[in-house]
Amino acid sequence: MDPIGKAASILDRYTLCAHCLGRLFALMGYGLENHERGTAIMNLLNMVHVYEVRNEGRGLERLLALASTGHRATVDYVRSLGLKVDLRPCYVCGGLMDRVEGLVDAVVDAVAKSGIKFRTFEVGTRIDEAILAREMELVKEFGITTSENIKREANRRLGRLIRRRLGKPVDKNRPDIVIVIDVESGSISIERMPIYVYTRYIKHSRGVTQVQRIPGMVGSIRDEVEPLKRLFMAEDLYLHAAGREDMDVRMLGNGRPLVIEVSKPMNYEVTIEEVARTLSGSGLVMFRLDELRYAAPGEVTALKAEAKTHVKLYRALALSDRPIDEGDLKRLEEARNLVVSQLTPRRIKRRRLKRRRRTVYSMWPYLVGPQVVELFIRAQGGLYVKEFIDGDMGRTTPSVSEMLGARLSVVELDVLAIYD
Ligand SMILES: [Zn+2]
Repeated sequence: MDPIGKAASILDRYTLCAHCLGRLFALMGYGLENHERGTAIMNLLNMVHVYEVRNEGRGLERLLALASTGHRATVDYVRSLGLKVDLRPCYVCGGLMDRVEGLVDAVVDAVAKSGIKFRTFEVGTRIDEAILAREMELVKEFGITTSENIKREANRRLGRLIRRRLGKPVDKNRPDIVIVIDVESGSISIERMPIYVYTRYIKHSRGVTQVQRIPGMVGSIRDEVEPLKRLFMAEDLYLHAAGREDMDVRMLGNGRPLVIEVSKPMNYEVTIEEVARTLSGSGLVMFRLDELRYAAPGEVTALKAEAKTHVKLYRALALSDRPIDEGDLKRLEEARNLVVSQLTPRRIKRRRLKRRRRTVYSMWPYLVGPQVVELFIRAQGGLYVKEFIDGDMGRTTPSVSEMLGARLSVVELDVLAIYD
């Protein structure tokens, strides 16, 4: 690879600024900025062409082409020959890359005015499609394999300067805010990335929903986390739980995994201790503070996926339409790994019915009264437990009602443990 020969033939056809010329050879060596590479190449070309013009009486065309880029030494030399220099804007960026650093003041100003308290940032630039297209064509035309994308260069140069001015680090993977700069127009927008908080919730009372507010109900978990909105000065909060229980079901034991998404916060400097203090006030719902931590965005999808494979332990109190005897208990006790087929329960209003299969691993029944049985059920996540007990008029099979030839209905249901 001969960058000098290549650069000379590119400049024969196109005027490029030092940034855009150097960027074509960005992958050749480290520790230099593109305009330094471009200038180095131009300096070398200047030496070659000036030598040729002076000693061999040729190469004036190339010298004039180099001068039209604005290369200082070449411009001076051409003028010393009494020739006119035809200065031309860069074919790729039209001079945009010279102006990049000039945007920093406006960025620092916009960040200060936004009032956002953040720890890390990332810079994203918008560059005109036509510029990107011209660069790509050039790379293709000259078969260049060592170039860098113009956007990357702009992001890097701006990021470096902004970092210095703001005194905050760039985080490419999980920045608090993304500063989006339109390099052409100079307009700046700031995107606030969500914060994720992981915990597990324990629900000691019945009548607590997860998200929706239902009149007459005790409350919702969504309401219980509401104070976080003020703490983070956020626009909104979203709950992502590993499954859900009905509002009349208690969630006991080790609690249900929950990720709270804090949307568009203004304050990223909240410590996890402050979050803990804010979440510790409620008596209705208990948040596991020992499990409390900031989470990664990817954990939300993982949480949803895991909810289906978690093993769960339930306790149900069921009423039977006929007395339960020892034989009934034995039948339930001996059942192992039942694959239960469930059509979407009648109580769930959904247009499209679906069939789901979940495994009930084992059951421990206890007789509480002649027609009241307490059932401990170990099952795969996602089982409709009430329907597994009452049979949902045949839409769930097998069911406890079906196994006993009786009609059972659930009076109370608790989730005792989620094993993950
Ligand atoms: Zn340029």
